[in-house]
Amino acid sequence: MEDCLFCKIIKGDIPCDKVYEDDKVLSFKDINPEAPVHVLTVPKKHISSTNDLKAEDEELVGYIYTVMVKIAKQLGISEKGYRIISNCGEDGGQTVSHIHFHLLGGKKLD
Ligand code: 5GP
Ligand code: ZN
Repeated sequence: MEDCLFCKIIKGDIPCDKVYEDDKVLSFKDINPEAPVHVLTVPKKHISSTNDLKAEDEELVGYIYTVMVKIAKQLGISEKGYRIISNCGEDGGQTVSHIHFHLLGGKKLD
């Protein structure tokens, strides 16, 4: 996906503030944080949105959640709580067409 911003970040063509990486996922700080902790986790495989998830991706989505829960613990927000969200499409407020999950915390969220 040549024109995909998050694919470029995954490839290292665009820098990011990396929080976690392995062979399946990359987690990095959101460039425009909406909370003291705002980390995005993306699969390295390009999937445009939740609408494009296939049965073969079920394990990957579960894996992303477990990674995010570990990141929340590492960043010290597990006890007080946090929010994990994935926006889909125009009405959902999705602005980057590579599926991503926001981890938000570090304050009482609206
Ligand atoms: P969406 O609105 O699609 O759910 O979330 C996209 C997120 O990506 C936004 O919160 C936005 O701040 C973040 N974002 C957009 N461009 C970049 C970038 O170049 N680097 C990083 N780290 N985050 C970005
Ligand atoms: Zn992509």
